Amino acid sequence: MPRRGIPLVVSAPSGTGKTSVCHRLVSEDAGLELSVSHTTRSPRPGERDGVDYHFVSRQEFEHLVAAGAFLEHAEYRGNLYGTSRAAVEGPLAAGRDLLLEIEVQGARQLRTQLPEARRIFLLPPSRKELERRLRARGTESEEVIARRLELASQELPEVFRYDYAVLNDELEAAVGRVLEIVRGEREGRRAELALRFGPGLVLQS
Ligand code: ADP
Ligand code: 5GP
Repeated sequence: MPRRGIPLVVSAPSGTGKTSVCHRLVSEDAGLELSVSHTTRSPRPGERDGVDYHFVSRQEFEHLVAAGAFLEHAEYRGNLYGTSRAAVEGPLAAGRDLLLEIEVQGARQLRTQLPEARRIFLLPPSRKELERRLRARGTESEEVIARRLELASQELPEVFRYDYAVLNDELEAAVGRVLEIVRGEREGRRAELALRFGPGLVLQS
């Protein structure tokens, strides 16, 4: 019997490096998978529907909300984002550990909707470096960058509500730190199963 996967929420102000860190994590650890969210924003160059996001219209999104399809959803800078129950339940039931890259309002909702989730907050090294990364990505206008920086000041104090804080100074180092956390959580889950069911089940987990 495979053990249930561990949901891992990763949040950070836009531009900190969540997407970069999460993509490296799934390529380095075969047991990790990225949850695919729904959004009403337009795809950026290179983004694929069903892979990076499920890109839907506002009307479709609202229909899904009314149907109770989402575990959490939030409006972020004029666009809607949400994690569907289906995106989470399948991988977790199959025993895969799932990364949920979501902003802070959605992460708050998951506290009640998915209480077993562990929460990791990525921190930028400085405001100056955050600004540099937002510009380097080259996908947003100066006006959007300014608004994202303003929002970052509101999001940063949320770090104290998370289980872990990880500094994303150097990408490799940050990925290594998150992998340590994932391994620690897996060990914790093994130990918990061992206490509850005995070591026989643990060998298969
Ligand atoms: P987020 O998903 O948090 O909005 P991204 O992963 O899109 O952030 O990263 C924003 C920009 O910063 C990208 O250009 C990315 O290549 C760069 N970046 C991410 N992590 C680092 C890092 N540790 N050092 C330098 N640049 C980084
Ligand atoms: P972006 O448009 O840059 O891909 O994402 C903007 C913000 O929305 C990021 O902080 C990202 O983590 C967050 N986000 C992505 N998917 C979800 C989701 O399913 N739910 C919530 N609440 N936020 C999400």
